[in-house]
Amino acid sequence: MKKRIAGKTGLELSILGFGGFHLIEIPGKEAESLLNQYLDAGGNYIETAISYGEGNSEIKIGRAVSHRREEFYLATKANLRDAKSVEAQVHQSLIHLKSDYVDFLFVHALQTADELNQVQSAGGALEALKKLKDQGKIRHIALSGHGRPDGLIPAVKSGEFEVLMTGFNYYDRFNYPQIENELLALCEEQEMGILAMKSLADGYLYQAPEIAIRYSLSQKVASLVMGMNTREQLAMNLKIIENFTPLSLEEKEELFANSPYLGDYVCRLCGKCREQGFDPAEVFLLEGLFDRQMDNKKMGDTALYALREMLKHWFRQKEKAREEYSTLSQKVDPKKDYSRLNQLCPYNIDINRKLKICHEKLSDSGFVY
Ligand code: SF4
Repeated sequence: MKKRIAGKTGLELSILGFGGFHLIEIPGKEAESLLNQYLDAGGNYIETAISYGEGNSEIKIGRAVSHRREEFYLATKANLRDAKSVEAQVHQSLIHLKSDYVDFLFVHALQTADELNQVQSAGGALEALKKLKDQGKIRHIALSGHGRPDGLIPAVKSGEFEVLMTGFNYYDRFNYPQIENELLALCEEQEMGILAMKSLADGYLYQAPEIAIRYSLSQKVASLVMGMNTREQLAMNLKIIENFTPLSLEEKEELFANSPYLGDYVCRLCGKCREQGFDPAEVFLLEGLFDRQMDNKKMGDTALYALREMLKHWFRQKEKAREEYSTLSQKVDPKKDYSRLNQLCPYNIDINRKLKICHEKLSDSGFVY
């Protein structure tokens, strides 16, 4: 399997990493078979977290592949924020994983600058991780986060972390553009290893995996971590990875223009509808934070509708979106007709309709679209 170097760690990771979350959904014997098939195919990065099934994923990995420990890099994550609890979590993880050390220990799901302060303060998680690194129980201190990278950007700037993992997919790039526009460059400046996850936008893009995987791996990332819990999924991902070629500029433009998942609802942030004193894209970005622009008030395909309902508040940032909308200088006037802007949108978005939907979601005025 193709490999890439993870920044200053110098470690060469296979471009397909095995994400351990979905192992909690299958019996241990099946997890064992999948993990060994992955290693047999040349994969060398397996990741999990103590919080996945309260240790269930770690235990399955420990039982399945600890006898092949020298063949792969192992990562787990600690989700607590104080030193004492994190130290206890890491010790427990090592027991679950049947290993004396992990190659990467992630501060798990760091969402806000306040959480970063907790992690970096005296008695915070980072203190424990540095101690465990000195003891050889952790090789590299890493960081993961989901959604808008409010906590990740200052964390990367702090220079305390060697590896970052976050979502990279062509759907959420329009909800959290800071990831590609700002965070990536900061990581590169710090020579951090960058890992991608959520290539399928938490499953939303499951019907068209190849283009989604190619998009994520076309970023400057060392590896794409994918959760897998069936033989078919593993085989399909291996095949896509084997034939991987980066997306050309034309392919990317075509994808952004014509993907049915973006359709005529997700704002591509092109700026063409901006006018003096009012930029609809500012509102649409807050809608992205609120519900990933998933609730378009249309039913459409039933399975995709159900998925959108499940995934729209996956990152729990809706209150933050409302708070930010309340301070926006130019809010939507629900009585105003914005239809003149519709003709400016190259993606056929009904801007007038979308603005009113956004106002319902984001304001506390009681307005109903
Ligand atoms: S023109 Fe369309 S895609 Fe461009 S910023 Fe406006 S709504 Fe978004």
